[in-house]
Amino acid sequence: MSKFDLVIQNGTVVTATDTIKCDIGIKDGKILALAECLTDAKEIVDAGGMYVLPGGIDAHVHLDEPPFYGVLLNDSFETGTRAAACGGTTTIISFAQQQKDRPLRSSINDYHAKASGNAVIDYGFHIILTDPSDRVANQEIPALVEDGYTSYKCFMTYDGYLDDGQILKTLEVAKRERAMVMIHAENEHCIRHMAKKFEDEGHTSLDNFPKMAPMCVEREGTHRAISMSELVDVPILIVHVSGREAMDQIRWGQDRGLKIYAETCPQYLFLTDDIYRKRGWEAAKYLCAPPPRDSENPDALWRGIATGMFQVISSDHNAFQFDSPSGKKANGPHPHFRKVAPGIPGIEARLALVFSEGVSRGRIDINTFVATTSTNPAKIYGLYPRKGTIAVGADADIAIWDPEMKQTISHELLHEEVDYTPYEGIEIKGWPVKVFSRGNLIVAHGDYIGEAGRGEFLRRERSNIEPPQGKPVRDN
Ligand code: MN
Ligand code: MN
Repeated sequence: MSKFDLVIQNGTVVTATDTIKCDIGIKDGKILALAECLTDAKEIVDAGGMYVLPGGIDAHVHLDEPPFYGVLLNDSFETGTRAAACGGTTTIISFAQQQKDRPLRSSINDYHAKASGNAVIDYGFHIILTDPSDRVANQEIPALVEDGYTSYKCFMTYDGYLDDGQILKTLEVAKRERAMVMIHAENEHCIRHMAKKFEDEGHTSLDNFPKMAPMCVEREGTHRAISMSELVDVPILIVHVSGREAMDQIRWGQDRGLKIYAETCPQYLFLTDDIYRKRGWEAAKYLCAPPPRDSENPDALWRGIATGMFQVISSDHNAFQFDSPSGKKANGPHPHFRKVAPGIPGIEARLALVFSEGVSRGRIDINTFVATTSTNPAKIYGLYPRKGTIAVGADADIAIWDPEMKQTISHELLHEEVDYTPYEGIEIKGWPVKVFSRGNLIVAHGDYIGEAGRGEFLRRERSNIEPPQGKPVRDN
């Protein structure tokens, strides 16, 4: 009998800290050995000339949620996770929304029913809180944290946003239960104020969308979230940071020793607000909140990734159809800027975009790529070391990357169940050519080849990461 089920030979194995030439021996879905010259296997895969990376973890994806702006997401757990896998991602954390007047657990069970037997890669759920009542705070959340739901999301904007008192209450619960709170930081009242002003003036075209929620609206929300985290003395994670002024607040908090984690997304690294001015109604394709900013911001974000200010890069995948009356055009072909479902797809291209622009073009090293797209999300959301690294005992979730392979991103290339990609035409260098989940080859030759519905629910532990270290504040 062979010692290993599978050996991956001759590759360059990369973790968040190390880059080493070695073989990987896999048995029963787990990594059993890292060593030179492993051979005793039922199957051997040659990874000569390739990078062997932990599978990506996309910690911010929306699949099969209730209608938003009257529009349903087009990706199910089946199609969304297939697309994720084809892009080199082996774990997702999706959202389960609290529905008012229902026990949280019964809301969550709806999502289990959607994911179980459909998802093809492993998954967990963050809980979106819309009503942190006493019962939720004191009874439901403590029980749910024990059961592996260790992260909660608060919105400062949209219908169903939490006011500051509700956010503080949530932060106190999170502190007591050692859960992680993610915050969408934009000021709802500023957005409503500006939206009404443009509407009253008769300006309803899509180029008003970024003007309704300019950087100061996000900067204020970010600073307020950081201040509330300081007041309660609990870590938070600011999701989808779009640019410099919000970064200034995060840097300020981190430099004061506050436990502020930050996430950004490819849309802020690759898109700018030009798209809203130049593309007329097609701008609906790119409409997301917060909106991408001016052309100086992507460079600033890359510097923030390179210097460790950002711990996480996620997709914030929202697969709304574009050219469809049940998608972005649900309110007509020429919709009001407030009536287009905000959100864009990106679950599949996330890793290749960041690898190509980041690693291939020398903006970040490959260890930072692994850290921000896999290891750090695993640590922050309680999946480490089972997920997010290549180590003895970890799940054999592995993507073999060809660093020289070129692709042009196109809707035809991708497997997302949506009629466009906002990254159409972007040329990529570096692509995941083989993907393994728990030791099973699930992607080869650009397609999903694994079994249907093989993904497993992940009961997550509490966060286990050191807070980001800013520059110490001078004491004078
Ligand atoms: Mn959001
Ligand atoms: Mn989101």
